[in-house]
Amino acid sequence: MIASDLSGLIGNTPLVKLSNLSGETDSTIFAKLEFYNPGGSIKDRVAQYIIRDAECKGLLKPGDTIVEATSGNMGVAFALLSAVKKYKCIFTLPESITKEKIQALKIFGAEVILTPKGLPPQDERSCYKVAHKIAREKGAFYVNQYFNELNPEAHYKTTGPEIWRDAEGRIDTFICGIGTGGTITGVGRYLKEKNPDIKIIGVEPVGSVFKAYLEKGQLTEGAEFDIEGIGKNFIPGVLKFDHINDVIQVKEAEASKMVDILVRCEGILAGGSSGAAIAAALKYARRSDKNENIVVILPDTGFKYLSKFSDTD
Ligand code: PMP
Repeated sequence: MIASDLSGLIGNTPLVKLSNLSGETDSTIFAKLEFYNPGGSIKDRVAQYIIRDAECKGLLKPGDTIVEATSGNMGVAFALLSAVKKYKCIFTLPESITKEKIQALKIFGAEVILTPKGLPPQDERSCYKVAHKIAREKGAFYVNQYFNELNPEAHYKTTGPEIWRDAEGRIDTFICGIGTGGTITGVGRYLKEKNPDIKIIGVEPVGSVFKAYLEKGQLTEGAEFDIEGIGKNFIPGVLKFDHINDVIQVKEAEASKMVDILVRCEGILAGGSSGAAIAAALKYARRSDKNENIVVILPDTGFKYLSKFSDTD
């Protein structure tokens, strides 16, 4: 197959059985390797879906500017598609982001604006408000992934069907991290429509507010956390809890340890949110009294975080 440009290589990522790690439980864990996307993360799917929609509606034409608040991956996804499609990009990022992600955005020619970390979207200094303000002032295209329904729809149309197809419908439980909530909302809806018995489980860092919201129906005060890409101190507009059965919380140290274990046991170098998702999957599998087929999303590559990981000198 020859793709007509890079956008033709997005999606259809592989599922791999984690043979060694699954051996610790009675279940079988399959990982969906989203770092096979050209930008190295699951966000390529969403960027492609949003750009296609905007082009169809005449909202984007070559030379236009795209603005977004991102933890890095969405920025890389828009930046690489913008190189192909000739858009300009401006991204606002919380200052805690790894230098690899910032460098990658700059290599693609994007303008990067760093904002203080951990601020809720209503705070004027937050990456969200700053992005919105820039987009308004420049008359640019504002992606707004936390409130843009095309974000979960991209996963409902691509990620969910791929999982169902490649697992040949033999899935008991689906597990993924929650950042914007796009993945869990879109994939969760698709899989529940196929089989309402499939359990949908979210993963967040300790300190994030999703588990409490699922259980109590109200927003609690969050605490600091540091796993890039997952966890929030607010409820994103696209995140729907209707199909979510449970949320498992993971400590940052557990996620980092699991990143190491994934490399050493399975040869997979993935990011911290992947470590968190696998740590949650193992906790879940050890608690389950059945032999389950568990599909876990690994959202991005560990090559984006080498400066953050220990033992790399
Ligand atoms: N992990 C990483 C590394 C991410 O960049 C993201 C996206 N923020 C997620 C997990 C969570 O995906 P979603 O936004 O679809 O909830």
